[in-house]
Amino acid sequence: MNINLAIIKGAKVLKENFINNPYLDSEILMAKVINKDRKYLLLNSNVHLENKDLNFFQKLITKRSLGKPIAYLTNKKFFWNSEFIVSDKTLIPRPDSEIVIEKVLHLTAYKKKLNILEIGIGSGCILLSILKERKSFYGTGIDISKSCLNISKLNAIKLEVSSKLKLYKSNVDKFTLGKYDLIISNPPYIKNINLKYLDKNVTKFEPKLALDGGLDGLSEIRKVIKKSSELIKKNGNFVLEIGFDQKNKVISLLKKEGFYINSINKDLANNDRCIVCTKI
Ligand code: GLN
Repeated sequence: MNINLAIIKGAKVLKENFINNPYLDSEILMAKVINKDRKYLLLNSNVHLENKDLNFFQKLITKRSLGKPIAYLTNKKFFWNSEFIVSDKTLIPRPDSEIVIEKVLHLTAYKKKLNILEIGIGSGCILLSILKERKSFYGTGIDISKSCLNISKLNAIKLEVSSKLKLYKSNVDKFTLGKYDLIISNPPYIKNINLKYLDKNVTKFEPKLALDGGLDGLSEIRKVIKKSSELIKKNGNFVLEIGFDQKNKVISLLKKEGFYINSINKDLANNDRCIVCTKI
């Protein structure tokens, strides 16, 4: 079978299984199988596909038909200015989180040297994007997931920022190392009972550890705020991603820990998503 026919057949299977962009996804999976970009597919549509490649392609189509996100099948996701390696142990980078980067870049436009801590680094997409934009900044990332730290490390090498990054496997409560000019975090903030109402493929395929914010959705946010108030330098900034309905509660938690609220910022879907504050 040639490449083009395999893509068409793959797309048909995806369509029958109500996958949103069947032809595009089929192309992306084919590109992954033969390790080429999508442009190659267009120019080589008549090239014969080896059996082993066809089998691999059909396996990926089956997995995609069952709803597995394309990022987990290709092990990559574009975010901000770079392509990141992801695995099913990391949350897939969301465009909504890019507001955290925008805010940090705005806050640090005239800074020469900064020490940044990210609590819950995941794939590394947020901190590493910042380190790539600001060549003289240093980063520390912590996570309780060793798999996430491994992926962050690979991404740091890929983005050529690994010499400026330290990684620690640690629970937020237990981490006591250093003082930071800037702290960022996108902690799990979904209310436990609401996990089942997320897009079904988020719940089914993405790590609960990165989503589950406990009974009221704030259990990890509380720990992150408390720890940040200890690890941040005076006048340091804290940039936190939150759930769309958590603004008021989080503001009061922040104030209690001695933070001044600078701004609440909306994501691309116009939901409150990111709080910028300063330790006073
Ligand atoms: N924004 C993510 C989602 O809605 C949740 C991320 C998080 O809990 N930090 O799927």
